[in-house]
Amino acid sequence: MTGVAGARAVKDRTVTAWSLEYGAYDSAEEGQREALCTLGNGFFATRGAAPESRADGVHYPGTYAAGCYNRLRDEIAGQAVENESMVNLPNWLMLTFAIDDGPWFELDSAEVLSFGQELDLRRGILTRRMRVRDPVGRCTQLMQRRFVHMEQSHLAGLETTFTALNWSGRLRVRSGVDGGVENAGVKRYRNLSSRHLTTVAAEPRGDDLLLLVAETTQSHIRVAVAARNRIAGDDPGGETEWSVAHEPDSVAHQLAIDVAEGEQQTIEKIVALYTSRDRAIPEPSEAAVCELKHAGSFDTLLERHVLAWTHLWQHFHVDLTDGAVMGDEALRTVRLHLFHVLQTVSPNSIDLDAGVPARGLHGEAYRGHVFWDELFVLPVLNLRVPALSRASLRYRYRRLPAARRAARDAGFTGALYPWQSGSDGSEQSQRLHLNPLSGRWTPDASHLQRHACHAVAYTAWQYYEATGDLAFLSDHGAEMILEIARFWSSAASYDRGRDRFVIRGVMGPDEFHTGYPGANEAGIDNNAYTNIMAAWVLQRALDVLAVLPPRRRMELTETLGLRQEECSRWEEMTRRIFVPLHDGVISQFEGYADLAELDWEHYRSRYGDIQRLDRILESEGRSANSFQVSKQADVLMLFYLLSADELRALLRRLGYRLTRETIRKTIEYYLARTSHGSTLSALVHAWVLSRANRDQALEHFTRLLRSDTADIQGGTTAEGVHLAAMAGSVDVLQRCFTGLETTGDTLRFNPAWPGQLGTLAFAMRYREHPLTVRINGASIRISAEPGKAPPIRVHCWGQTRMLAPGGSVEFVVRPKVGVR
Ligand code: BGC
Repeated sequence: MTGVAGARAVKDRTVTAWSLEYGAYDSAEEGQREALCTLGNGFFATRGAAPESRADGVHYPGTYAAGCYNRLRDEIAGQAVENESMVNLPNWLMLTFAIDDGPWFELDSAEVLSFGQELDLRRGILTRRMRVRDPVGRCTQLMQRRFVHMEQSHLAGLETTFTALNWSGRLRVRSGVDGGVENAGVKRYRNLSSRHLTTVAAEPRGDDLLLLVAETTQSHIRVAVAARNRIAGDDPGGETEWSVAHEPDSVAHQLAIDVAEGEQQTIEKIVALYTSRDRAIPEPSEAAVCELKHAGSFDTLLERHVLAWTHLWQHFHVDLTDGAVMGDEALRTVRLHLFHVLQTVSPNSIDLDAGVPARGLHGEAYRGHVFWDELFVLPVLNLRVPALSRASLRYRYRRLPAARRAARDAGFTGALYPWQSGSDGSEQSQRLHLNPLSGRWTPDASHLQRHACHAVAYTAWQYYEATGDLAFLSDHGAEMILEIARFWSSAASYDRGRDRFVIRGVMGPDEFHTGYPGANEAGIDNNAYTNIMAAWVLQRALDVLAVLPPRRRMELTETLGLRQEECSRWEEMTRRIFVPLHDGVISQFEGYADLAELDWEHYRSRYGDIQRLDRILESEGRSANSFQVSKQADVLMLFYLLSADELRALLRRLGYRLTRETIRKTIEYYLARTSHGSTLSALVHAWVLSRANRDQALEHFTRLLRSDTADIQGGTTAEGVHLAAMAGSVDVLQRCFTGLETTGDTLRFNPAWPGQLGTLAFAMRYREHPLTVRINGASIRISAEPGKAPPIRVHCWGQTRMLAPGGSVEFVVRPKVGVR
């Protein structure tokens, strides 16, 4: 979407803190809206597409189930490639209407007299209201509400109320399930195979149900969607006709009913979706039919759905009052972000085997893959419903054998987690990348982003610190951390000349640098982020061994064959890993400073939007590898993940001095060389600048809030929301600006709260205490709900206080600490 369209969207929107509203239909913006109006429950999600629409370039109905992947093969530029994608499942929304013998309603060709669409974030309901006029002047009002059930995770509902405004006649409605769908949501992938499903059955079941069964072509996942259509309320009288319309890949009810001028008719559609990945079922179709037979009316289901959301929001409560930055829109956006995080990862996903897909269950960008993005999502979950983080870590744990194989195949030991992961934990990064600007396929070395391993180790340890869940650490977390440490130990080689360990041939988080200019081999050496975090992982591995109960430590060291010499090498490496520096700045990697400087002004004035400088440079026959340009925070990730004290200690142990001046110069250096081509960049920069330059931090924060609502990357939101940026925006408020940390069995705050944001209140959980935190420019107060959990230590501004259930502690900016 262009800036102009973005401005129009903002103008059209009535902003309230709990809803996203659109006052007019806009085909140019439809894709973005579909993503933003997606409804989901952690098990599956459906884009906010118009029920009467099909995939046609404007509309893209998409339904995705967490962890449901399939692979297809293609030939690109003479090479055979196989891509694994999160599968677009049968479209259960399909519903349209006609009057008498008139044509079936289509939004884009209809005369729309009025239009309104509202996403109710508090209750998880999407409503669309429309008045339309057909070519002979008959005006009809439509009111549609839908949900994807947050409690009964296999169910969804769509209710449509028709009002004949100025006509009497026969209302015909067609409502069914369309299995003739493909993965065609991303333009760049359109030349690749896209048909993942084969229809197995599309038929009526009993008197009032429809059943569509499909199967994925390679992973052989069966998917069953059963649908029930009913006329709500009393028997409408007159003659109602029901019939079933079959097509090879779809099945629908067709009903015709007499309507008199001014009258209303409501059709309720309830669907049940199961896949063969589900547990506690005989098989998907039987499960879907059975569940639907027992499902109540739309309203009864809605009531329970709203209750489930009410409970979820209690855990994730957030309120922002009196703020001057984006006013109510900031609060509304933060809630929208939490809403989408919870629709992707919810209590319904705890029992699933699914990771955190980078673009939610909202679209097909990155083929639904899991990257390192949980690094930015889990902190929000750890502090509210830690079981959600644990489920995501279990997804990684189940893929430890695959990570071990990957390490061995690459010539290392330990566990090498993939950069992109889907069904089985094998590397799913593409090997060829299409540059839409030049139309050329170029080699893609993303699999060298071995720092994905850091994310797994870091999130496992952070989960342990936030929750104190030693059982999880013992049973799962420790093994991952130790195996990752082992990987780094084998990936590093000893450089005699330097008397240091070096790590060669990787890619850092900045994806622009895939190798050295002109080099035959991909990869760069000694990426500072990779090296320093490797030292961190090795230290944590030693910590893990220290905190494990002795018997488990013995079992694990025996099972892994972990020898004392290995641990000694780890210890040695925490003192001797090489960190590249130049001119008092941490170098992004060895040789970064020798690359050419880019004429940023020239590129800005020539291209305007230069977020994807890599593509621009490639289209000019150059390469980002030749320049000091970064797509996103790379070195600065260190300041995001680690506190300044922690980073200083880590570097001191490695024999480097991290002065305030080094920090300042390093931040400035990369700020001037970063194009922010990933939404993650605004998150990390807001974080890193929060203490050094509050105004700049707020600029990045504002940009972060607009990542999807204003589609700042110009078209990427339509392909799925940016989940890490969404979670990250919440985290900037709740952890960064409050300085919240959970280290050393203490809940710590070190606020740098921007007064312009007003007062923030949020719910969190720490060590079994449900807490409410309230912060503004003057004070921070933490209140605990009554309960039986032992008191916790809370630390702020040099003071430590004990907080017991039912009590609260308050820290005031300058004057002393008060306890209540
Ligand atoms: C970023 C990655 C991120 C991925 C998925 C890319 O644009 O560079 O860091 O993991 O998007 O969100």
